[in-house]
Amino acid sequence: MLKLNPHYAELKDSYLFRRIAEKTRLWQEAHPGEKLLRMGIGDVSQPLCSAVIEALHAAVEDQASMERFHGYLPENGLPEFREAVAAHYGTRGVRIEAEEVFVSSGASDELGDILDLFAPESPALIMEPAYPAYVDATVIAGRRILRLPARREEDFAPLPPEGEAPGLIYLCSPNNPTGAVFSREKLRAWVDYASAAGAVILFDAAYEAFIEEPELPRSIFEIEGARRCAIEICSLSKTAGFTGTRLGYTVIPKELERGGSSLHAMWIRNRTTKTNGVSYLLQKAGIAVFSPEGQTQTKACIGIYKQNARTLMSALEGTGLWYCGGKNAPYLWVSCPEGVGSWAFFDRLLNDLHIVATPGEGFGESGEGYIRFSTFGNPGDTEEAAGRLAKYLG
Ligand code: PLP
Repeated sequence: MLKLNPHYAELKDSYLFRRIAEKTRLWQEAHPGEKLLRMGIGDVSQPLCSAVIEALHAAVEDQASMERFHGYLPENGLPEFREAVAAHYGTRGVRIEAEEVFVSSGASDELGDILDLFAPESPALIMEPAYPAYVDATVIAGRRILRLPARREEDFAPLPPEGEAPGLIYLCSPNNPTGAVFSREKLRAWVDYASAAGAVILFDAAYEAFIEEPELPRSIFEIEGARRCAIEICSLSKTAGFTGTRLGYTVIPKELERGGSSLHAMWIRNRTTKTNGVSYLLQKAGIAVFSPEGQTQTKACIGIYKQNARTLMSALEGTGLWYCGGKNAPYLWVSCPEGVGSWAFFDRLLNDLHIVATPGEGFGESGEGYIRFSTFGNPGDTEEAAGRLAKYLG
């Protein structure tokens, strides 16, 4: 008899962003024609840069040509794309072999799919507040979750807890939603903790391009010993505006082994079974991101979001509300006014200021009492939102 996966029933009601979208839709229906300032979901507002657009056009022409047409590609990625990613690590002094880079359709897919490598009885440690997909993918896979609350007293970047590490550890730095970044010393403590127990760290580096303080690590592989205990999952979504274009990469070092099996070899087997790779067009676009022009142009775009962050930060300065993030991450994590819950504050911002933010409780219980502002909006809207916030809360 067919049995469905029973773990879907354990998922928390609706996915955070769907609930926000529904509340926003109802508000918009009740206020036709009124403008909403959307600072909720972390979706980019700026178009792809010209180096990427040119590469996409050229790739389309290749596919129209008898001589340059490409059918199936190597499943783990075009060698040129993998080399470009490895060279990108090299610019920061991190040694990655091109063969250790796996092309992907983005970080979300990988964060769920990578669980295929581990037996379901291995529990996962998830630091909360957390990007909701970690919890949901782990629940769907029937895996036990150990939650580690990240608190303001430790700058939302806690050290490992006492005792032996569980099998899997999700780390996200720069963090969504808090904007916290692990220092080198703290990351070293996590690498030591995982290594001592034979655990594996799934390091989500989706926001690495936003780190501006040079002493902060942008990759877990900057830490000694990480090549034997970590997998890094990265994306071009926020680095280069690929949220709708879809491209990412995952790095699995060849040294990463457990019980005599190579996780690198297992992932090759997994990918060659479950995917036929990522489109030629997108990989050519990805190569362009790592070209000198692509780097200059994508950094300029990140500069726009950083200016948005500064605009919001200066508006918040006068409100008396505590906040963090914004400097090395595209999110501001703001304390709600005394005695106001995060969904109640969300409703107030929506109804009184026509601003959509993301309630902290949606990122796990320990996010209650905070609200997240995304800095990915267009600059005009961000200035308008900052003005309204300063007037309303100041
Ligand atoms: N990881 C984190 C921490 C994110 O915030 C997001 C998207 O917001 C993702 C992964 C997903 O990225 P992608 O668009 O590559 O699936």
